[in-house]
Amino acid sequence: MVETKIITVDKNRPEKDKIKKAAEIIRKGGLVAFPTETVYGLGGNALDEDAAKKIYAAKGRPQDNPLIVHISDILQLEKLVKEIPERAKLLMDKFWPGPLTIIFNKSEVVPFGTTAGLDTVAIRMPSHAVALELIKEAGVPIAAPSANISGKPSPVCAEDVAEDLAGRIDMILDGGKVMVGVESTVLDLSEKVPIILRPGGVTREQLEEVLGRVELDPGLAPGEKPRSPGQKYRHYAPKAPMTLVEGSIDNQVKVINELAEKLEAEGLKVGIMATAQTRHLYTRGHIISAGDRTAPLTISSNIFSILRKFDRMEVDQILAEGISKEGIGLAVMNRLYKAAGYNVLKV
Ligand code: AMP
Ligand code: MG
Repeated sequence: MVETKIITVDKNRPEKDKIKKAAEIIRKGGLVAFPTETVYGLGGNALDEDAAKKIYAAKGRPQDNPLIVHISDILQLEKLVKEIPERAKLLMDKFWPGPLTIIFNKSEVVPFGTTAGLDTVAIRMPSHAVALELIKEAGVPIAAPSANISGKPSPVCAEDVAEDLAGRIDMILDGGKVMVGVESTVLDLSEKVPIILRPGGVTREQLEEVLGRVELDPGLAPGEKPRSPGQKYRHYAPKAPMTLVEGSIDNQVKVINELAEKLEAEGLKVGIMATAQTRHLYTRGHIISAGDRTAPLTISSNIFSILRKFDRMEVDQILAEGISKEGIGLAVMNRLYKAAGYNVLKV
């Protein structure tokens, strides 16, 4: 057990002295959780194999799931990779800093401990001021997976991080709730048509505006073998079993109400993840609205905290509405599929 210091920082203008303390921990090989625009990250020196080991141990992360390396300056990139493809330059221009992770061929500087033995390295530049200042001050790129115990819902505030990792890491920088709420988009540029390995904060539509056609890794479908090692694991899972209901809004509401009635008759406590448009249509269960269907960013920023809330309420069964897969909805649905262990009901 280590003592985990929790330090509140100004999310727009992080205090220099606080960032300095956190950066010193990183430079000395320790671990600091910090906010990014997507979710909270668990950061360690990306060039230090021992720091990477500590990250895997703190999270209980499978050894073959590579870490994303975070940078604050394009100049850092050149040292970490063999070459920067033209298409990557276009994307960096448009989406960095922001929730887009690009896969590069790694240089010798990046240890295999960070990339889980792969010759490639995943890199992004986050847009959150705390993340950028921390990386800058540390003077090294920071490897940072989501700051949760592997398999659990990702952390969107410092309390979520503390719930999972207090006693296991040196510091948490508390910059309040994150904005996007789902992780970065991971993009593979090694094929003629770029492939989304994980849908995320930058949408397929946005990528296609820059690159033309972009594919979604067919391996993301249930039962298939994903191209990205981390995607094969059960993820984001709440404690209770979850059923995701997809279909027209009317059908979703009807079926969820019927299921909730049946489950409650069996004496079970039911959590319903609804939307602003439907919450008033439910007559049973513990209803939480994820947000407005016409503004999916309100939903992406809430799904993980709702799953954690259902954990704390100790519900026995979660029933969740599906949303449109347009825009960031694709990332939201990818997370909900996984949270439900692909237990999907089409209605
Ligand atoms: P996390 O940091 O926990 O949000 O997960 C990182 C994601 O990036 C996982 O899905 C990894 O499989 C993926 N990833 C990281 N590095 C690579 C890489 N070199 N090639 C392919 N996928 C990667
Ligand atoms: Mg994660």
